Amino acid sequence: MIEILDKSKCVGCAACVNACAKKAILFNVDSEGFCYPTVNKSQCVNCGLCDSVCPVLNADAAKKGALPKPVTYAAQHKQESVRIASTSGGLVSALAEAAYAENGAFGGVVFTEDFLAEYLVSANPDDLEKIRTSKYFQADSTKMFSQIKNLLAEEKTVVVCGTPCQMAALKLYFKKNLDKLILVEVICAGINSPKAFQAHLNTLEKKYGSRVKTFRAKSKENGWRSLACKIEFENGQTYFANGIDDDFTRGFIGAHAFMRPSCFECQYKGFPRAADITIGDFWGIEKIPNKLDDNKGTSVAIINTEKGRDFFEKVKEFVDLEEHSLSSAVTKNRALINNHSKPAINRKAMFQMMETEPFDKVANKFFPKRKFLLRIKGVLRKCLLLWSNFPHSPKAIYQTLWLNFLRKNTSASLKKRQFFLSDVNNALDIHKTAKVKLNGSLKFGYKRNRKSKMESALLLERNCTFEAGGTTVYYGADFQVFKNASLKIGRATINRNVQIICMDSITIGNDCLISRDVVIRDNDGGHHVLAPGFKTTAPVVIGNHVWIGHGAMIMKGVTIGDGAIIGAGAWVATDVKPNAVVMGDPARTVQKNVDWIA
Ligand SMILES: Cc1cc2nc3c(=O)[nH]c(=O)nc-3n(C[C@H](O)[C@H](O)[C@H](O)COP(=O)(O)OP(=O)(O)OC[C@H]3O[C@@H](n4cnc5c(N)ncnc54)[C@H](O)[C@@H]3O)c2cc1C
Ligand code: SF4
Ligand code: SF4
Repeated sequence: MIEILDKSKCVGCAACVNACAKKAILFNVDSEGFCYPTVNKSQCVNCGLCDSVCPVLNADAAKKGALPKPVTYAAQHKQESVRIASTSGGLVSALAEAAYAENGAFGGVVFTEDFLAEYLVSANPDDLEKIRTSKYFQADSTKMFSQIKNLLAEEKTVVVCGTPCQMAALKLYFKKNLDKLILVEVICAGINSPKAFQAHLNTLEKKYGSRVKTFRAKSKENGWRSLACKIEFENGQTYFANGIDDDFTRGFIGAHAFMRPSCFECQYKGFPRAADITIGDFWGIEKIPNKLDDNKGTSVAIINTEKGRDFFEKVKEFVDLEEHSLSSAVTKNRALINNHSKPAINRKAMFQMMETEPFDKVANKFFPKRKFLLRIKGVLRKCLLLWSNFPHSPKAIYQTLWLNFLRKNTSASLKKRQFFLSDVNNALDIHKTAKVKLNGSLKFGYKRNRKSKMESALLLERNCTFEAGGTTVYYGADFQVFKNASLKIGRATINRNVQIICMDSITIGNDCLISRDVVIRDNDGGHHVLAPGFKTTAPVVIGNHVWIGHGAMIMKGVTIGDGAIIGAGAWVATDVKPNAVVMGDPARTVQKNVDWIA
């Protein structure tokens, strides 16, 4: 019987309520506005059906059937007007259109007349407009189970979109009838209290002296990234607030003040995913080469199962697509993998206050806007950080000024933020003919421990080239670029005590992480082995988004593919394939097709 479940873990999916043939489970709203099941023991026959469909008790079972490696796309609906009317890139509309095109049905969340939210699954394309846009509070899912059952009985393809836990509940509930049911989950930061949302609207209705006519989270008038909230009232007035200026948005994304308790320990983060397809905002797309970012909304689609992949083929005619790495989609969208931690807010007092006081008063008390003094404190903290990063020994300041402004063969531009920041205790031996080319900032010898006196050394010999940008090199570094050689480093973080010995050519791509005590060399130090075909040097190429573990050694002639992981202490003398994990001495591939994020 479902009562064994700790209340704070229940996600409120209503699967147990629907599974019970004896109608012994009631679904009641608690003082925070969330629904929880209670079992009428006199009617319960202990059949266990409720337990078997619960996505909290059966999370591992719900995640079965995923592809070994999901496929990730950026997507935009082909019609700009649809995108503007949608929360992200309008992918939901494309999924629905593909379902309707095969005479199927689509389900998602709609507003009721009272601006509560509920799931609606239907084969009527006119319902799509209501389903469009995110309602960032929990929707009632009790009716959806029978709606889906009826549509599946008619042999229709049914595509449903909702929160990951809710889709997992459907997967468990319809486990014997999944062939034509395609489950699409949103990337979910957490679901909020309907009571808090209602309190917010009630307060605004009083303030504007009129009932709400339309509500829009993430209105795109100031761009997709502004996260603006727009409300139109029946009397013609409009409320508009950008991002966390809106009390409800701040309570949600800023403070996580009124999320369902289960969301702080959600079991549906990370991989494998339970749903066939995962969708969301492609936050961070502007940081990677792309053709699908115009600040009017770009979706991310992660295809998790074969069924999802087959259905997505039919969606492709409605969207513009680009394939990207999974890591590029996750880097700025941590809701896919991480839970928020519980805020230090007295929830009981907050929800009690919502019953008697206006929502803006509740917001001011429990999750206030940052006050002026706090903002000043923030600015001061940033200045302090900048100062602690800036070299403040006379020698380091001289080195920095000399390198950027006085030296002929350095290409630096403060305007373009292309400069060389030399930290304290740096030994720089740079020949006047050596070319230093900066594509962004280069911090060299950066000291996390500001009290350390550890030296970092840079030797650049005659006619060599050293190119870097967006690069941080921690203390203890020893970089030697010998005459006519070329060392090129992209956006990368290079931890303490890394040695790079370059006699020919070493290239390190963007978004690389290189751990402590790594050695990278493209030569044998000029020593010859008297054997046929022996070369003393050979170029090293390290691709983009490569992670090199503590103490690894990368030898001459090696090419490391994009996305690879080199295990701690690995000794790499042969090429490494993209997205492979290698370990050992000599390094061997232990895993393929792996994606990672920092
Ligand atoms: C509570 C919540 C939190 C989210 N958090 C993130 C996040 O952290 N990162 C991220 O990238 N994306 C997040 N999303 C997803 C994002 O907001 C969009 O819903 C998604 O990208 C689809 O947008 P679209 O442009 O394709 O279509 P739209 O037409 O805007 O689609 C909206 C879809 O969201 C579903 N939906 C709306 N309200 C709810 C609700 N209350 N409960 C369940 N499903 C709902 C509808 O079924 C509809 O299909 C979240 C969505 C919700 C509902
Ligand atoms: S998570 Fe769903 S199935 Fe489990 S107890 Fe809560 S409402 Fe019932
Ligand atoms: S965060 Fe997890 S538990 Fe909360 S609504 Fe989203 S999927 Fe469900």
